[in-house]
Amino acid sequence: MEKKIILDGIVVAKHVKDQLKNRIADLKEKGIVPCLATILVGDDSSSETYVRMKGNACEKLGILSERIHLSKDTTTKELLEKIAELNEDPSVHGILLQHPVPGHIDERKAFEAIAIEKDVDGVTSLGYGQTAFGFGDFPSCTPAAILEIMDYYKLNAEGLHAVVVGRSPILGKPVSALLLNRNATVTTCHSYTQNLPQILQQADIVVAAVGKPNFIKGDWIKEGAIVLDAGYNKGNIGDAEYDNCLEKAFAITPVPGGVGPVTISMLLKHTVQAAEKSLKFKVSAAK
Ligand code: NAP
Repeated sequence: MEKKIILDGIVVAKHVKDQLKNRIADLKEKGIVPCLATILVGDDSSSETYVRMKGNACEKLGILSERIHLSKDTTTKELLEKIAELNEDPSVHGILLQHPVPGHIDERKAFEAIAIEKDVDGVTSLGYGQTAFGFGDFPSCTPAAILEIMDYYKLNAEGLHAVVVGRSPILGKPVSALLLNRNATVTTCHSYTQNLPQILQQADIVVAAVGKPNFIKGDWIKEGAIVLDAGYNKGNIGDAEYDNCLEKAFAITPVPGGVGPVTISMLLKHTVQAAEKSLKFKVSAAK
C-alpha cells in the first residue's frame, strides 16, 4: 500500500521561520527592525489568544510586535484614526486587525483603510484583487499557508480538481483563486451548494474551510485525495473528520499542527517582506 503523507505544519512553519532569520538579520544591519502592529478591539478571549500567539511568534524571531488593544466601545471612526496613524508610521511594516471586531464597527471599512503595502494579511479588496490576478505580494495568510504546505511537500495542483468548501473573503475565496492560478480546476462550495458529498467525491484536492467541526466526512473523500483542513474549532477539532479522511486520503493536514502554525509563519514572512520593500523604497527615494 502506498504510504500516506501527514502534512506536518509544525515542520513547514519551522522551515519558513528558519529561512526568515537571515533576512531579519540583514534588515537589522541596515537599521530596520521589521514590525507588525496588531489591533484587537474588545475582549473576545479567542481573539486575545490569537493576537497573543501572533505577537509572541514575532518576538521569538526578532520581529517587533506593537500590540494595540482598544476597548469594546471603540467607534469605527476611532478605529480608522488608529489605522491611519499606523499607516503613516514608517517604523510599522505590517498591520493586522484581528477579526471579528465588535458588531457595531464597520469591519469592511476598517479593513479597507489598511495601506496596501502594510496589508500583510490580504484583507483589503485591492489585496484580494491582486491575489486573484496572480501578482499580489500578500495573499491572506491561511490561503498562503495552504500553498506553502503543498510546496513544501511538492504537491502539484496543476490539472487536478480542487474542491474548496467555504467562500469567506479571508479563506475560501482567496484559496480558490490561488489554486486556480496554479492551474487546478476549482469548484468553490458554500452553504447553498447542492450535492456536496457527490462533488467532493470528484475532488483530487479538498480544502475544508467551513467553520464546523468534523463537517467533511471520510466517506465523501475520493481514494488518494489530498485533504487540507484549515478548520479550527473548539477542542482542537478540524472541519474534516481526521481519522476517517486519513483512511481515504493520500496526504492530509492534522488539526492541530497542520494549517494553523503555518498561517502564523506566513504572517511573519509577509511582515519581513513588507519591511524589505520599505527599505527598497527608502533607497530609491534617496537616489
Ligand atoms: P466563515 O467566514 O464562517 O465561512 C464559512 C464558509 O463555510 C462560508 O462560506 C459558508 O457558506 C460555508 N458553509 C457553511 N455551512 C456550509 C455547508 N453546510 N455546506 C457548505 N458550505 C458551508 O469561516 P472562515 O473564517 O472562512 O473560517 C473557516 C474555518 O477556518 C473555521 O474553522 C476557522 O476557525 C478556520 N480558520 C483557520 C485559520 C487558521 O489559521 N488555521 C484562519 C482562519 C480561519 P456561505 O458563504 O454560503 O455562508
